[in-house]
Amino acid sequence: MKLVKKMAALGLAAVMALSLVACGSSQKEETTEAGNSSAGGTITFGTNAEFPPFEYVGGSGVIGEFDGIDMAIAKKIAEDNGKTAAINNMEFDSLLLALQNGQVDAVIAGMTITDERKEAVDFSVPYYKATQVMIVKEDSDIQKASDMADKKIVVVQGYTGETCVQDLGYKYEAFKKGSETILELMNGKCDVVVIDSATAEKYVADNEGLKIVEDPDAFAAEEYGIAVKKGNTELLNQINESINKMLSDGTISTISADYLDADTTSDDGSSTDAE
Ligand code: GLN
Repeated sequence: MKLVKKMAALGLAAVMALSLVACGSSQKEETTEAGNSSAGGTITFGTNAEFPPFEYVGGSGVIGEFDGIDMAIAKKIAEDNGKTAAINNMEFDSLLLALQNGQVDAVIAGMTITDERKEAVDFSVPYYKATQVMIVKEDSDIQKASDMADKKIVVVQGYTGETCVQDLGYKYEAFKKGSETILELMNGKCDVVVIDSATAEKYVADNEGLKIVEDPDAFAAEEYGIAVKKGNTELLNQINESINKMLSDGTISTISADYLDADTTSDDGSSTDAE
């Protein structure tokens, strides 16, 4: 939990100072809404609810069945603008396309702001700072990123973790979901999973015998932003105003702390790691 706290604190204190990031299943068409519907208008957020503690299915569900830091932030953004938040849950890889197609108005998915993604969409001001870390078995001899060179590495497809491992020049296997990568590790089918810090903390807390190894020299700081379709400055301004307010009045800090300490076990009793 220590790392999470540190990263969150870092993110919340320094998030305004933008340092540019380095390395950076079937689609559910159902849309779930929550918020102040009386004022009219809906902001449909695309997400991939496979990324605890930012978005997952279960818990108390702040927007329909969807819960997590991002879901709470999305709901507040809608409320700040007298609108209702709706969630369209889909694969991570489909999110930016869905934005370009007009299927969703915005994407909130623990998404790291990268130069490559900025070519396709516009990003809000950053709202959270993270980094890639390595999850290994407790008895692993991996102590730094270069120790992965001759190991079996697993990442989630399309995440910045994949880009980082590619940049390091190591071979790896990519899976569709974070929960699948953890199963591989738990079952001894790989040696290390490279994934975002706060999500790694959740997985390690929920699964016995795992630990996190950090290597800030190998993995640069990343910042999460909300994406909108290129040129949608009206919505981007609304989102930015709301995020800036929530950063300065401590709302995002409080939301993050709540979820980082919370249990993300699903309603059906299965842990988020075994879904
Ligand atoms: N931050 C990572 C990325 O942007 C992972 C995001 C996610 O899985 N939701 O690629």
